[in-house]
Amino acid sequence: MKFYKRTETKRINIGSVTIGGGSPIAVQSMTNTNSRDWKATVRQIKQLEETGCEIIRISLPDMESAYNLSKIKKSIKIPLVADVHFDYRIALEAIKQGADKLRINPGNIGSKDKISILAKEAKKAHIPIRIGVNAGSLKEVHGFSDNFLRAKTLVSTAIEHVRILEKYSFQDIVVSLKASNIDTTVKAYKIFASKRNYPLHLGITEAGSIFSGTVKSAAGLGIMLYDGIGNTIRVSLTANPVEEVKTAYFLLQSMELRSFGIEIISCPTCSRCEVDLIKIVAEVEERTSAMKNLKRLAKPVKVALMGCLVNGPGEAKDADFGIAGGKNTGVLFKNGKFIGKINTDKWVEKIVSMIKGYCR
Ligand code: SF4
Repeated sequence: MKFYKRTETKRINIGSVTIGGGSPIAVQSMTNTNSRDWKATVRQIKQLEETGCEIIRISLPDMESAYNLSKIKKSIKIPLVADVHFDYRIALEAIKQGADKLRINPGNIGSKDKISILAKEAKKAHIPIRIGVNAGSLKEVHGFSDNFLRAKTLVSTAIEHVRILEKYSFQDIVVSLKASNIDTTVKAYKIFASKRNYPLHLGITEAGSIFSGTVKSAAGLGIMLYDGIGNTIRVSLTANPVEEVKTAYFLLQSMELRSFGIEIISCPTCSRCEVDLIKIVAEVEERTSAMKNLKRLAKPVKVALMGCLVNGPGEAKDADFGIAGGKNTGVLFKNGKFIGKINTDKWVEKIVSMIKGYCR
């Protein structure tokens, strides 16, 4: 696995998950159920856990939803982050109910006094606070058309609130500086990372639908991750949050920052391809979904599925195993060694059974 030189940050514990200070980059998501309906929220969190979500954030729009928090927490395994806007008293209730972390937005949480009260209570409960600055809710940002000035405003707002927490000797701080524009977001994170060493939660906010949001998030988060910035990530999609987790995993895995489950290397196909590779790869992915197999795989496995013998054998040899296509057939390799030929209609079964061989 490759490790880009990572920006050094403080280590912070969010329940059972440690972030920063060289820890693996954690995958976060957020529920989109009605938080007042705690059973539906637990159902969704369990689905996200199954997909591989490592930290879950839940929005608390009112006191009723905050009162539900302990019931939700008792029913799930991953750390629970309470997301509170406008009313700091809801955040206080979330602390009482056992939240593992608070996320507050300086743009709308109110006076410094309220933040200082939250700092004292969070410190007593030993839970971190994320200062989540969001360009959309910060009117000062909209006064600038220049992305650099917008970024600087996001950073100065974050630092102002960091100082309030620090004044109360509170240092279990995580910061995010999100905008829906990649340039502003990247600039803000880079400026902040050059000034302070608190762990950073990355995201391109309001990134869009499953397809456009995935591309936009991968582009924006990719720049920062490549620069060594970021300790947790959320891919923000207008979609089922399960898709956010899958995308985050594929992003981290494709950058070799983390390794999970199954990695499929497959070619785009061209006129040399004499097998229906697109269908085969879709079937293999469907049947072996990296996320579903995550806990059962003894170690990550790399599978190469290639359309022909031009690049096929080379890629297939580099993988744990792979097949390079021919006419109605394929050449099977394992650990770089030729194993035999296999008819096209047997590829999927063979690959799935070989992957099962890597499961516990
Ligand atoms: Fe085309 Fe073969 Fe390359 Fe696939 S591996 S894109 S079929 S040349």
